[in-house]
Amino acid sequence: MIKRSFFTLTQPKLKYDLIEPDPKEPESIPVPSSLILLLNEPIDSTRQSLIKKGTCVKKGEKICLYDGSTEYTISPVAGTISSIDTYSDDFGNISTYIIIKSNQSQTTDMSALAYDLKEDIASADEYLRPLPGAPPLAMLASEDSKINTIVITCADSDLLSTTRQYIAVKYLDKIKEGALILKRLSNAAKICAIVPQGLKIQADFDSMQVVNTANEYPSNLPAMVLKDHFNTILPAGKTPSDVGYCFISAEAVVSLANAYKNKTAGFEKVLTIIGKQGNKYRVKATIGTPLRKIFNQFSIHINDQDRIVIGGPMTGFATFTPHHPVRPDMDVVIVQDRDHIPELSDNPCVNCGKCIQACPAGIPVNMLVRYLEVDQYEEAADKYDLESCIECGLCAYVCTARIPLYQYIRLGKHEILKLRADI
Ligand code: SF4
Ligand code: SF4
Repeated sequence: MIKRSFFTLTQPKLKYDLIEPDPKEPESIPVPSSLILLLNEPIDSTRQSLIKKGTCVKKGEKICLYDGSTEYTISPVAGTISSIDTYSDDFGNISTYIIIKSNQSQTTDMSALAYDLKEDIASADEYLRPLPGAPPLAMLASEDSKINTIVITCADSDLLSTTRQYIAVKYLDKIKEGALILKRLSNAAKICAIVPQGLKIQADFDSMQVVNTANEYPSNLPAMVLKDHFNTILPAGKTPSDVGYCFISAEAVVSLANAYKNKTAGFEKVLTIIGKQGNKYRVKATIGTPLRKIFNQFSIHINDQDRIVIGGPMTGFATFTPHHPVRPDMDVVIVQDRDHIPELSDNPCVNCGKCIQACPAGIPVNMLVRYLEVDQYEEAADKYDLESCIECGLCAYVCTARIPLYQYIRLGKHEILKLRADI
């Protein structure tokens, strides 16, 4: 396998958005009558399920499919399960979606179930995985965990989002409280924070080390943070946790602080919504809220073939359904008018070399894609460094032939992981 060093990014110059001074409170989206929760476990028709249509759930109740399941979600409302069915993501991974019809009379004023939270990471992992911000508790609680450094990210990883900055500006005390909890619960020797250059909060972090990231994309992606600030090049095919780093969003840290204080879970997720004209809205919505409810509040009409992008313009994925639910790790959602969706093509590569110049990992993307287009994933990995890709999306952004390079690469990485797992 080739191991390339990171080259200097020569183009393009894309800037992260810096949050406005003194940001307003997010607009609250009312709790909907039906919420959709995704559970990362497929339905197994040969097993007796713990839940079925008609099962009543309490606010804050853990929901598992089977006895012994390690995957779970938490109901953000008191209500009744009205549907359980199979969900397939864009790679064909199968999981389960659960629709809960909320008991409106109880939802707003009923407090959530209290948890018996103990002072250890296993206990946090038992109850708090699906909190807003999606704290990576399974990783921290894993017996194989080698995490030495926890990095709290107050910097948004994709363009246009200001969700993490908002949390950092508004809830700094909670972040500090949550950092102390993480320190107590985990075995990490060090906890630090990354803050975008220009966001004026670093002086208030007390003794915690603060690292300022540049405002040029993709400086906030974990691989770039490790290279630029921790003198660590992520080896091909490895994740930050493989080299001892755990990245956790500022919102997840705040959620942990609240959960330990109140002994229960919170369910309100902060999101940045970008409308068709580029208007930006900051909202607070209950996890499981269908996006359609948020769009309705701002009179964003979704027409046939409009595109909804979850996760930012560079690294997000498209969904064509406005029923997609708000998820714990969802920071930004973009709505693109069908007439303004950048066209992708099946034109051949014209060998302009722009993708190579733009790639921060120095990958010969023009050669790589030739193998990915014909499903030769192992060759793509061995000869053209597929696994060194840090998934920034810059190659696709600059491609003259409008080849969907990023989609090819993500699928290729997914397939190679499956191939390696089967060996
Ligand atoms: S997404 Fe493209 S530009 Fe970014 S690291 Fe991967 S190959 Fe390089
Ligand atoms: S940017 Fe697109 S067209 Fe140009 S070399 Fe790369 S893949 Fe080929």
